[in-house]
Amino acid sequence: MKPVLVEILAIGDELLYGQTQDTNSHWISIELDKVGYKVVRRTTIGDREDQILTAFTEAEQRADIVLITGGLGPTSDDLTKPCLAKYFNCKLAIHEEALAEVTAFFKSRGRELTEVNRQQAALPVCCTKITNAIGTAPGMWFEKNGKVFVSMPGVPHEMKKMMLDVIIPKLRATFQAPALYHQMIRTIGIGESFLADKISDWEKSLPNNIKLAYLPGLGEVKLRLTGTGDNMDTLKEEINAWVKKLQPLASDYIYGYGEDPLEVVIGNTLREKRLKLSIAESCTGGYLSHLITSVPGSSAYYLGSMIPYDYEIKMRQLGVRPETLEKYGAVSEPTIIEMANIVRSKFNADIGVATSGIAGPGGATPDKPVGTVWIAYSDKHKTVTKLLKLTQDRQLNIRYSATAVLNLIRVNLPA
Ligand code: AMP
Ligand code: MG
Repeated sequence: MKPVLVEILAIGDELLYGQTQDTNSHWISIELDKVGYKVVRRTTIGDREDQILTAFTEAEQRADIVLITGGLGPTSDDLTKPCLAKYFNCKLAIHEEALAEVTAFFKSRGRELTEVNRQQAALPVCCTKITNAIGTAPGMWFEKNGKVFVSMPGVPHEMKKMMLDVIIPKLRATFQAPALYHQMIRTIGIGESFLADKISDWEKSLPNNIKLAYLPGLGEVKLRLTGTGDNMDTLKEEINAWVKKLQPLASDYIYGYGEDPLEVVIGNTLREKRLKLSIAESCTGGYLSHLITSVPGSSAYYLGSMIPYDYEIKMRQLGVRPETLEKYGAVSEPTIIEMANIVRSKFNADIGVATSGIAGPGGATPDKPVGTVWIAYSDKHKTVTKLLKLTQDRQLNIRYSATAVLNLIRVNLPA
């Protein structure tokens, strides 16, 4: 079965100026992926006839389906509709049913229909009208040489309703797509290129219908396997078999599959093992606690945190020894060990973790540049520390440090 190729065309000057984010294309991509259609290109263009007509011509060559959003308003700056009439070589005329709909829409809001609004019911005579149940600009469906063009309003909720209620069902009745399946494999603690080295033989032996993508993020690398086939169940089995082969090659780094981020995976493990977590975080300022508590049900394993940001508070409230702080400083291994151990015992927890570092941009010393961060993990058997040498970017340092602590918990949890 041949893949069904789609191009998405977002029209509007506001998108090019950066005033409006093109959320429509993103949303449409997600919905089409669910039904197995392959988006081959997303294009953004302005409200200009030459740009719009060129984009139509090019999209028609690349794709089976062209989905267009924007430029359907009743005002003179919106040009999509006259362009469609020109492109498909048919004139605009008042569509009686569309006129009745737009009249009813205005009546229901107690407003009169102006001539500008009446023009919303003028459609190219060669299209099939798509009702806009929650707005005034109807959608339009065109067919030409086996290809389909659909034009929708730019307003996101109107576009979404039209897509879900009418367009996707109608497309599925017209174009049968092969099965398309993604499996995400989530890794942490290894860089993209090192991971690629470790799994290169496996990668080379993947069959043609299964593609691998590396998706690096903050300290993490997601691997995505995408397969196509005639039958969804067989395809899933095939992909799962490849995932099983991958597992032993990267077992130290794989922390999960699918959508769950590290804080969810760790939360599940802590809950299963009936372990309680406490946190003393300095340079991360509560961000680590925020990640932990953003998971529903975290009260089952999370006891609480201290954020001893200030030197004095580290001593008086948390209880780090003044000698340790004076001799080694707040950003040091002896201090981070005390922080993790003390918070564990003070909170009567099974696990204590801690962060202390120089997030920047200020605060650096010759031997401790911006981005120097100590993190620690403590349980009743051991205390483990790690020195991170991060970036000049404060926000990145905070986020990366928190992720590194999550990974420290993952690799050190008692069996
Ligand atoms: P239009 O159909 O061009 O009159 O668009 C109406 C409104 O929809 C615009 O003012 C934007 O705020 C919004 N809009 C248009 N295109 C997009 C898009 N691609 N993503 C998100 N919002 C959009
Ligand atoms: Mg517009």
